[in-house]
Amino acid sequence: MAIEVVWFKRDLRTSDHSPLFEASSSNLPVLCLFLVEPQRLAQPDCDPIHIEWELDCAYELRKKLEATGANLDIMHKDALEAMEEIHAKHTISRIRSHEETGTSWSFDRDKRVSEWCVDNKVEWIEYPNNGVIRGMKGRDKWKTSRDRRMGLDLLAPPKRIAGVQSKHANATMQSIGMSRRQIIHRPIPGQDAAMDVLRSFLSSRGESYRWSMSSPSLAVDNCSRLAPYFSTGCISVRRVVQTTSSKMRRLKEARSRGEDVGGWLQSLSSFQSRLAWHCHFMQKLEMEPTLDTRAQNPLIDRGMNREMDEERFRAWSEGTTGWPFFDACMRSLIATGWINFRMRAMMMSAASYNLWLPWRETGLHLARQFLDYEPGIHWSQVGMQSGTTGINTVRAYSVIKQGRDHDPKGTFIRNWVSEMGSVPDKYIHEPWKMPQELQNDVECVIGKHYPSPIVDEASARKEGVRRTYAARSGEETREASKKVYQKHGSRRRPAVRRRGRGARDSRQAKLF
Ligand SMILES: Cc1cc2nc3c(=O)[nH]c(=O)nc-3n(C[C@H](O)[C@H](O)[C@H](O)COP(=O)(O)OP(=O)(O)OC[C@H]3O[C@@H](n4cnc5c(N)ncnc54)[C@H](O)[C@@H]3O)c2cc1C
Repeated sequence: MAIEVVWFKRDLRTSDHSPLFEASSSNLPVLCLFLVEPQRLAQPDCDPIHIEWELDCAYELRKKLEATGANLDIMHKDALEAMEEIHAKHTISRIRSHEETGTSWSFDRDKRVSEWCVDNKVEWIEYPNNGVIRGMKGRDKWKTSRDRRMGLDLLAPPKRIAGVQSKHANATMQSIGMSRRQIIHRPIPGQDAAMDVLRSFLSSRGESYRWSMSSPSLAVDNCSRLAPYFSTGCISVRRVVQTTSSKMRRLKEARSRGEDVGGWLQSLSSFQSRLAWHCHFMQKLEMEPTLDTRAQNPLIDRGMNREMDEERFRAWSEGTTGWPFFDACMRSLIATGWINFRMRAMMMSAASYNLWLPWRETGLHLARQFLDYEPGIHWSQVGMQSGTTGINTVRAYSVIKQGRDHDPKGTFIRNWVSEMGSVPDKYIHEPWKMPQELQNDVECVIGKHYPSPIVDEASARKEGVRRTYAARSGEETREASKKVYQKHGSRRRPAVRRRGRGARDSRQAKLF
């Protein structure tokens, strides 16, 4: 008997899920499928923390599907092999899935599946999953299309699904031969947990979002922490946008009645902007799936000629640079799988400007650490923070200033860099300035207990910025940057530009 396949990709939910919703009202039995593809496991950006998180979210999804009469086949197989196998057993009439925005391997896989469908007379219907618009060539109409999509009605989860009755595949970390890498404070997987996280953000944690998001300690509670759920699609961006808009409407009404709404409206307005960025950055990879291997402006990248220096890379990636605040951030990220936006940007900036390391390798390291790794956001941000797009202001972060601003007393540093445990506040950000006697007293001898700074932070950063602007010069390079802007640039211009001060390709580096 012919069946329909609902192919779950990075959309592990039953709610607001067009493929499942449509399949549930079709007259064919439905086989729900999730694949752990060997090709994906072989990609250099893949880490066991991602796979285990996805599997745990898939197991939660299966419980939801079972309650409707369906099941979930979790197969460790190449997509074509899986489809062949299912087709031989049941005859697939139709496949439904969400569109996926991934790096080249997933685009190529989708092309192969598409060809297979044509050859086997199988219909494949793909549905949009977020604000990414497929087939778009430029950015002029993107925002309108995205906003329209965010306003569409949410789809209820199906109550009954006529599931295919057969033995179901069940891949596990053990069966795919992957060792676990444990992280601490790991979120709870699944769509119910995602809803709980959203609720707690909108009811209490989010009020000080705008003012807390830059501090690595405060951001842990006051950022939404929804990103890992977005990366596996346990919750739709549209649901989060709409729930936030409803909350904002209620707050505005309360304010108009004279009630004190504290910092909520400002915070939620910042939050909505970031939800728009989510789609904005993913759109870049949708339009250019090679962003993980080729810079947006390859002429700048070539002109920079950054080289791999193993010693620098090791210190940067392990958090042993000798810059306490940076090391605390990197060690915290490795241990927990998460760090806030500003610190992610600082990490890329330190790698790219201070240490002049190539973005591909440093970007891969970060991708493997982020539980919420989302290729579209990640590689766009890596390009932006490494200065290789040609359309963004160069943002070179001072790791010492960042530490002073966001961890003035060194609490975060002491939490993650045990070597700093007894270093007085005065020296916590620059321990190399401690007199030798004090170093001995607090058992933090620089070069022995804790490394000397890998390079002089300020002069290396300035030199990195200088070399970056040198690589951006030249008519041909600027022309290439204009094309990048046409294709990827946000059409929303910052206030300073609207007032006419400063060109798009600003030569004024921002030192943070
Ligand atoms: C070098 C670098 C790499 C990054 N890699 C990723 C990644 O792999 N996956 C990822 O989800 N985010 C990435 N970000 C963006 C951002 O740091 C994270 O989205 C955010 O820290 C996740 O925590 P949160 O869910 O609590 O975010 P919140 O601050 O609560 O924001 C809510 C949501 O908005 C989106 N968002 C927030 N900030 C950004 C941003 N700057 N750009 C695009 N979308 C944003 C995310 O979907 C996030 O979940 C990266 C940033 C940098 C600088």
